[in-house]
Amino acid sequence: ANGNSFGRVFVSTPYRCISTDASPNHPIRATLFPGDGIGPEIANSVKQVFNTAEVPIEWEEHYVGDKVDPRTESFLTWESLESVRRNGVGLKGPMATPIGKGHRSLNLTLRKELGLYANVRPCYSLEGYKTRYDDVNLVTIRENTEGEYSGLEHQVVRGVVESLKVITRQASLRVAEYAFYYAKAHGRQRVSAIHKANIMRKTDGLFLKCCREVAEKYPEINYEEVIIDNCCMMLVKNPALFDVLVMPNLYGDIISDLCAGLVGGLGLTPSCNIGEGGIALAEAVHGSAPDIAGKNLANPTALLLSGVMMLRHLKLHDKADQIHNAIIKTIAEGRYRTADLGGSSTTSEFTKAICDHL
Ligand code: NAD
Repeated sequence: ANGNSFGRVFVSTPYRCISTDASPNHPIRATLFPGDGIGPEIANSVKQVFNTAEVPIEWEEHYVGDKVDPRTESFLTWESLESVRRNGVGLKGPMATPIGKGHRSLNLTLRKELGLYANVRPCYSLEGYKTRYDDVNLVTIRENTEGEYSGLEHQVVRGVVESLKVITRQASLRVAEYAFYYAKAHGRQRVSAIHKANIMRKTDGLFLKCCREVAEKYPEINYEEVIIDNCCMMLVKNPALFDVLVMPNLYGDIISDLCAGLVGGLGLTPSCNIGEGGIALAEAVHGSAPDIAGKNLANPTALLLSGVMMLRHLKLHDKADQIHNAIIKTIAEGRYRTADLGGSSTTSEFTKAICDHL
């Protein structure tokens, strides 16, 4: 498969071999977290589309619990984490972080417990959906375990708080390795390390040093370093300048939303988390969208395309192509589009239209 053509973006990992002989009689088991907010509605769309396309996947569904599981110190049950470990592959809806003390954030629990160290966020122009740009085809690879997300914050004295940004050589090398591996495996030409090392000399400085070290092992891939503020300007002026971007955690969070805006918004952008031992947990870039939850208004495309990334990880390319093409055709025809894309279709109407195109 040519992973570098538009929409043919898939995730692969050097560490785990997935069986490719799945069939309706021998389905692959995958974990499904419908999540919160719009999560259950868009997860239903995925199940409906996958069923109609006869994808040989059997879902193991796990919901966020209503009390803290002491084994995970969060609302996620130990059994749900075990399910992902056992299956090695899963799809996750958005999860809102319950407010209160005495538990860990759901997303941070998943990242920590499953060692999800890289978040791969492809962003490409969808044929048939016009935005200011028609040539976006880039992939953001976000370090997923540390930086400002280390959860180390405290009050120094009244009126003064401190947050620690932690960057380690081990995590930086690991994500840089994955970015170059990904670029090579997908026929991409360039990796850009995004940073603010002119100010964050120690932390981003170490991140860059690790990227340079890894870059030396991949002479066939062009390597460049771009300061984050300049990167934002370049992305908005001419996103075609970029190919694969690798960056620390918080920058990845922000830049990937900016990239989503280039191609039509958060309703369209998928991602996949890569974990230790080759675990792949796909999820939409967006959150639980509480403002439209339960109203049948959400765009399921981002979660569906995340499902497509999961199928490519499983080497089920025919099914991935079939679903991808049905989504593109539905959006391009324009008759059924959700409100975020300027249409008036409900989630169910849009999902049915995709199924009709399969
Ligand atoms: P959000 O992504 O949920 O919503 C931002 C805006 O985009 C909202 O106006 C929303 O209606 C819209 N939007 C998002 N997804 C959409 C879709 N599929 N279709 C149509 N419109 C869509 O961001 P937020 O409001 O900042 O966060 C809400 C909650 O989600 C918070 O609790 C946050 O912590 C959580 N969150 C979770 C994840 C995750 O699980 N990976 C990611 C981001 C945010």
